[in-house]
Amino acid sequence: MTPESVYLPFNRDCLRGTFTPAKRGTKPPDARGHWLIVQDQNLLVVADESTPCLPQGTLPEGCAGGGEPFWLGTLDEAPCWVSVLPADAPLPAGLRRETLIPMKGTRLPDELLSLGGMAMQALHWQSTSAHCPRCGAPTTRIEGEWGKKCSRCSYEHYPHLHPCVIVLVRDGHRVLLARKSTFAPGRYALVAGFVDNGESLEGCVAREVKEEVGVDVKDITYVGSQNWPFPSQLMIGFVATYAGGDVVIDRDELEDARWFDVNALPPGPSRHSIAGYIIEHYARP
Ligand SMILES: [Zn+2]
Repeated sequence: MTPESVYLPFNRDCLRGTFTPAKRGTKPPDARGHWLIVQDQNLLVVADESTPCLPQGTLPEGCAGGGEPFWLGTLDEAPCWVSVLPADAPLPAGLRRETLIPMKGTRLPDELLSLGGMAMQALHWQSTSAHCPRCGAPTTRIEGEWGKKCSRCSYEHYPHLHPCVIVLVRDGHRVLLARKSTFAPGRYALVAGFVDNGESLEGCVAREVKEEVGVDVKDITYVGSQNWPFPSQLMIGFVATYAGGDVVIDRDELEDARWFDVNALPPGPSRHSIAGYIIEHYARP
């Protein structure tokens, strides 16, 4: 099965065309519309609604204090704004916190997770791009882009996304899963790792699998991707077929890795993550 698009939260596809990023066009004249208020990896939503929804109108009282709000884009034809609230600020009246982190059991619907993820990425970029990485002078926003340009040396840089492969290794009725010591007890996930300079995605898959669990793979096949805003990974998902070798675990990276029968899989990653998606859709032959 090869789906056309992976409708996972944090991918903009999840919003199905209802959101247009603020890259071009004129900034709205006043800060009114939908509010994405982020506090310490939580999204603030309207307190008295059982289904999480965004505050509307002007910036809610008690939400200033984290810097100037900025325009993220247009959602359902209304401006969508981002504001940050310091981690130690009291909860503003009429709002409640919902975690944006899947492994903490977020209750946010996929659309709000995707918007909240973009808000977190934009805030991360704002906080890391105020100065030129080459000469240290202040930067300014490039018209029609998210990028920044140095006011002194003209160096341009753009939001930093870090490509990371993630792979399910299959061998007939068994799959190779791995866990880190930081995972909840008993929970297993997939082998993953960052792409190196000069490396193809397929090359990275083969290297990461060999380094982390000691086996060789073949038939490396792309299955989908997910933009993961913790803080800025682009997760590129693959399946691969076992091609030989014994499981030898890299203890610096992993606590355990082993083969599981596809009919007796351990607790897996969150359904919100591409790891959960790949196991659900591709573990069984
Ligand atoms: Zn510079």
